[in-house]
Amino acid sequence: MFTRRTSALLAASAVVLISAGPAVAGIYTPGSSGAGDPYFPQAGNGGYDVSHYSLTLGYEPASKQLTGRAVITATATQNLSRFDLDLRGFTISKVQVNGSPAAYERAGDQELVITPSSGLRVGRSFTVSIAYAGVPRVVTDPDGSIEGWVPTADGAFVVGEPQGSPGWYPVNDTPQDKATFDFHVTVPEGLTVMANGVLVSHRSSGGRTTWVWRESDPMAPYLATATLGRFDLTVSKVGTIPSYVAIDPTLPSGNVFRKLPQIVQFYESIYGPYPFNAVGSVADNAPAVGYSLETQTKPVYDRMPDETTVAHELSHMWLGDSVTLRRWPDIWLHEGFATWSEWIWSEHNGQKSAQGYFDTLYNTPASKTSFWAPPPGNPGDAAHLFDGTVYDRGAMTVQALRNKVGDDTFFHIMRAWVTQNRYGNVTTSQFIALAEKISGMNLDHFFDVWLYQPQKPTSW
Ligand SMILES: [Zn+2]
Repeated sequence: MFTRRTSALLAASAVVLISAGPAVAGIYTPGSSGAGDPYFPQAGNGGYDVSHYSLTLGYEPASKQLTGRAVITATATQNLSRFDLDLRGFTISKVQVNGSPAAYERAGDQELVITPSSGLRVGRSFTVSIAYAGVPRVVTDPDGSIEGWVPTADGAFVVGEPQGSPGWYPVNDTPQDKATFDFHVTVPEGLTVMANGVLVSHRSSGGRTTWVWRESDPMAPYLATATLGRFDLTVSKVGTIPSYVAIDPTLPSGNVFRKLPQIVQFYESIYGPYPFNAVGSVADNAPAVGYSLETQTKPVYDRMPDETTVAHELSHMWLGDSVTLRRWPDIWLHEGFATWSEWIWSEHNGQKSAQGYFDTLYNTPASKTSFWAPPPGNPGDAAHLFDGTVYDRGAMTVQALRNKVGDDTFFHIMRAWVTQNRYGNVTTSQFIALAEKISGMNLDHFFDVWLYQPQKPTSW
């Protein structure tokens, strides 16, 4: 009996295997070379989802030579015959998938096309290891600004919004593919590396120092940094979380960062708990960059910022970094909200109110400003991604909503938005739907007038 039963089971299993075989085999296809963003069609890739980047970098400021090894852990979301990463420039010396050599080629401006020795099955985890080196190529955006790995007098200012990350590491460069990160960065002794998350260690040997940072919360790839140079680093705590404030000693001294704990506490009162495991700031002397960026847990500033700028970047920890757009045309969800956050910080301090800022802007004759166009919900193309309208008219939209629904409902909407979408990706239509649900009002006309109509709103 025992033997007969075993035979019957084996026979049944064989039948299942045969019938399942053709459904799995033979349909391994290439992952897409882009993630489908209307402004940056080649950014990001399809067919897999990254969970972790481990970046081991060495940098020589004198020669500007970057040597890198990236180990990326991902899960296939389709049966993959090959897949792309985004990388700009560099010479590649080795690519391995699951520890075996893999074929690779470069395509276009930023595609690294990798063909593993055998297909990657849907749902399975895999690792990709890439060894690369070269002088990083600074990326110039459609609006003329520079980003990526930008050399400074004593190191590098490292920023990636919206498309600079492939300028220093191989990446699935879409804000939709958040992952955790480890950074091991070796530089000449005396220099400090400021990457995201918590400082794990820094050890010196033979005239060089390796800085290890760990970002264990989900992070969109464009928010990664490894800004380095001569810095005075102060490690302390805000509440229970570690705080890292790095200031380039060549900057005029200032104490704007002493306000950091109060600003964080104030935004917690509006938007809910601070979303990450570290907080901080990096003030570098890199005025040629011309902007600061909300790199996750540690905004980087190209000069000594004023308090308004610090408030703006810190608000992005909730609005942009934790709650992140799905597609770049929705950038007002970051910049309009962060600009309004500057206003409410000012109002909280008994200075100019958010309505005061709104009134000043609204009373500016349309002929004297460009902040009415293009409409913030539809900047039109990548060259207008960071136009003044996205910030100013975007923030006015937020303040107009506050007036439309009343303070109690408005603050309920803002907190729910951040809480419900923590570490997620969002769209403008999701925000409109949430505002309508919580207020019980039909806000289609309101948002159409404020976000999508090209002229100055007159009735809403
Ligand atoms: Zn901003």
